[in-house]
Amino acid sequence: MDIEAFEELLAQWHNHGIDRLRKEMRAFADEHDWNELLGVSDKKEFARRSLFLYRHFVQASYQTNHRTQLAAFEKGCYVYRSGNCPCEGHAELDGVVVPADHNFWKDALPPNDWDCDCDVSGARSISGAARLGGDPEKPISDFQPARRFQANHIPSLTDALLHVSGKDVADV
Ligand SMILES: [Zn+2]
Repeated sequence: MDIEAFEELLAQWHNHGIDRLRKEMRAFADEHDWNELLGVSDKKEFARRSLFLYRHFVQASYQTNHRTQLAAFEKGCYVYRSGNCPCEGHAELDGVVVPADHNFWKDALPPNDWDCDCDVSGARSISGAARLGGDPEKPISDFQPARRFQANHIPSLTDALLHVSGKDVADV
């Protein structure tokens, strides 16, 4: 399938710099008739889509592995760390300390939106979480991840491609 070949391309070239990755993507687009999907004819649009897909790939791989590491703290708590994403409600959660088995985490493990670069750190205790910069007194704000990210779902590369190319009709 084409998407699997594209994922292999990202896996192979994502750490060779964005210029090289874009060169590979352009060649891929020619070969697989993906010029429209990747917006290759429009320089700015191609720059935007290629960067988005690169970031999604890196972020999704990182968070998938990170969740395995977080399991070591399942009897402790997690600290939410907001990143530089412009997503609504994420900055308000920065430093929140919540027990790992709390319902909050059934929906709130990052990424929580497209372009979200928030993260979570695990700690064995509340004091450990405070040492990581968490604020145990901070209340949890009313939080809803974006639709595609609910129930801690990490969207697939196909989802990301449909989103960035404006073909995901379910995305509002
Ligand atoms: Zn975020």
